[in-house]
Amino acid sequence: MKVGVAREAAPGERRVALVPEALGKLTAAGLEILVETGAGAGAQIPDEQFVEAGAKVVPTAELYAQSDVVLRVQKPTESEAKILRKGQVVIGLLSPLLDPKLMQTLADGGVTAISLDAIPRTLSRAQTMDALSSQANVGGYKAVLLAANAYGRYFPLLTTAAGTAKPANVLILGIGVAGLQAIGTAKRLGAIVHAYDVRPETREQAESLGAKFVKLKTQIDATGAGGYARELTAEERAAQQAELNEAIGNMDVVITTAQVPGRKPPVLVTAEAVARMKPGSVIVDMAASALGGNCELSKAGETIVTDNGVTIIAPENLPASMPAGAAAFYARNISALLLGMVKDGTLNLDFEDEVTKATVITKDGQVVSEPVSKLLQPEGAA
Ligand code: NAD
Repeated sequence: MKVGVAREAAPGERRVALVPEALGKLTAAGLEILVETGAGAGAQIPDEQFVEAGAKVVPTAELYAQSDVVLRVQKPTESEAKILRKGQVVIGLLSPLLDPKLMQTLADGGVTAISLDAIPRTLSRAQTMDALSSQANVGGYKAVLLAANAYGRYFPLLTTAAGTAKPANVLILGIGVAGLQAIGTAKRLGAIVHAYDVRPETREQAESLGAKFVKLKTQIDATGAGGYARELTAEERAAQQAELNEAIGNMDVVITTAQVPGRKPPVLVTAEAVARMKPGSVIVDMAASALGGNCELSKAGETIVTDNGVTIIAPENLPASMPAGAAAFYARNISALLLGMVKDGTLNLDFEDEVTKATVITKDGQVVSEPVSKLLQPEGAA
């Protein structure tokens, strides 16, 4: 079976689905690897390294003509979706719930779409395939570096002959995968780290990494299904906001990572909270996208400085800004998923398997994923 590695075409995307070190396991399983010319360029991986690792580097047309399976990071662009042909399989972070129409297009074209973001994350066997976690981890690390870079003072307590620098107070809002990595990274840089989440179980996790958990007087337990948070009620939101505003005003750096599956990210840093911050403070909003972000003032993809001197950074794709490191993790995730579906050198989709059932979105001209097909039904039909 021929497995192709596509070159990503989305603006700013510098990752690649496989790295040369990941090829050995795949070729040992009898797979032939094709790599689109320049696929690794954004991550500074020259084509020759893929060749040395046993792949064949081919031009775009040949990659799509020959590959049985195409591996990618992001969902295909409209034009890439058109090149995919009947019977071909595409695997990547396809965001089927955010773009169900693209899934319908792939189904109509007879393409089998398999999405890494649909793996059952609590299944221990699927942890090696968890690209959402591996990429959130990169994001949490990079967010702290961006904040430290934009902050005009030291993160650690520093005593020198020229005087003493006070340590920075850093607040991490949302203690999921990205938040935990951000806590660890800010701590290693010497900051005083505070953290807050609406799931009480995160307190112990944050404290074990050396963060001080911000305990609000208003008790909120918004633990939702599958370890995620649920959306807060209007009353909970108002109570949380009033207390959070006070905490935020005392911080030098705020990094926000809060998400609620299938919903707009919650606003945790209001314009009023930003107004309370000191000049020179920095906010990094990891949740920012076209849907909005955790900071009321953030503009996705931009860095702005407010009238009171607060820098608000709202990066849209942090993992792509550390492409080689992020791609190395991603390659392990996508290889593990693919190898789990390969039998005797060919793809064998067994729908009794939990991972296959959850991740295969389209097959034989149909959208087979229940949550995605629900989204595609005309309003009210469900
Ligand atoms: P996420 O990206 O969905 O959200 C990030 C964090 O934001 C979460 O911790 C969430 O509780 C928090 N949040 C949401 N609304 C908030 C609000 N109003 N105020 C403050 N915080 C808010 O989360 P994630 O990083 O994808 O992880 C979600 C959960 O999944 C975690 O419990 C994680 O441990 C779990 N997980 C489990 C596995 C596994 O079992 N193998 C793998 C990955 C993740």
